[in-house]
Amino acid sequence: MIDTTIIDIQTTQESRLAETNFDELIFGRTFADHMFVMDYKEGKWQKPTIRSFQNMSMSPASSVIHYGQSIFEGMKAFKNENGKFGLFRPDMNVKRLNKSAERMCMPKVPEDIFMEALTTLVKLDKDWIPKGEYSSLYIRPFLFATDEYIGVKASDNYRFMIFTSPVNAYYAKPVNVKVERHYTRAARGGTGFAKAAGNYGGSLYPARLANQQGYDQLLWTDSKEHKFIEESGTMNVMFVIDGKLLTPSLSDSILDGITRRSVLELVRDWGMEVEERRISVEEVLKAAEENRLQEAFGCGTAATIAHIASIADDEKVYDLPAIETREISQRLQSYFIDLKKFRIEDKHNWMLDLS
Ligand SMILES: *Cc1c(COP(=O)(O)O)cnc(C)c1O
Repeated sequence: MIDTTIIDIQTTQESRLAETNFDELIFGRTFADHMFVMDYKEGKWQKPTIRSFQNMSMSPASSVIHYGQSIFEGMKAFKNENGKFGLFRPDMNVKRLNKSAERMCMPKVPEDIFMEALTTLVKLDKDWIPKGEYSSLYIRPFLFATDEYIGVKASDNYRFMIFTSPVNAYYAKPVNVKVERHYTRAARGGTGFAKAAGNYGGSLYPARLANQQGYDQLLWTDSKEHKFIEESGTMNVMFVIDGKLLTPSLSDSILDGITRRSVLELVRDWGMEVEERRISVEEVLKAAEENRLQEAFGCGTAATIAHIASIADDEKVYDLPAIETREISQRLQSYFIDLKKFRIEDKHNWMLDLS
């Protein structure tokens, strides 16, 4: 048996840190010095390794390319002005990765190995974690099929990897969204709850059409009737109507966001009324018309909170209240920043301090 808890580490000979301009990062284009790699062969996880971030070679017949057995996670490491750094709820990411793995017929990554890989990699590249107020080190764990075989079946071989990327603020501007009444991101019984690569490939075309019409994001609706709200772009979505926080309840077509869960826990702590249920487009637009829609925002790791400036449906545009008036989303935004920068008490034990 290979002892998979001992990572074989070869540090880089040529760090790119000194030549990286942290003030001009383009989201997802700059990668830190190292990456984690662990293969799955003959029913077992093989030796875990850390190497310098580099290209890899693959057979053109690699099954992931043809049939899309590929899943991923997204998380972040934060660092404060005193150099203290850590992760936000990483235990939730490993659990979700393994849920996605099950749906896609892939082997689970043992939780202890995932955590060891993640914390070792982040500590090794800690100088890549930016300190800026809205900056962080984006972390991308992913798992994909590597059989060199083009028959349609679940692969026998896989590769699990993690690399990281320093990032600044994601969505600086509030977004204008369009209700999607035709295309579908995820259907009942499908893979929408999994962070499976194909879900994103399929969402690009409708998103491009919306961009061409001048919108930033789509407000996805249910696949059957296109009446009920699901998500916004690649984020979960929340509304404040009449002082209550509303969000679509989870289903197999909605991604179980860690930011979503955290927002719900926080606002409940703050004594706010929360409803997780089916929410119709009708209901939200009616509230907007009657000036009862106080706030709308997307929530996810990349942006944390993305204010929705307007909602368009069938050419009709509903402008939402000014950002300055949005108490809940503003309070959430500053709470998350203060927590991730270790400035406030961590009541829920959400931060994993790595410094
Ligand atoms: C990742 C993701 C989210 C947000 O999940 P977080 O864990 O909060 O980052 C929401 N919707 C979709 C479709 C996603 O892929």
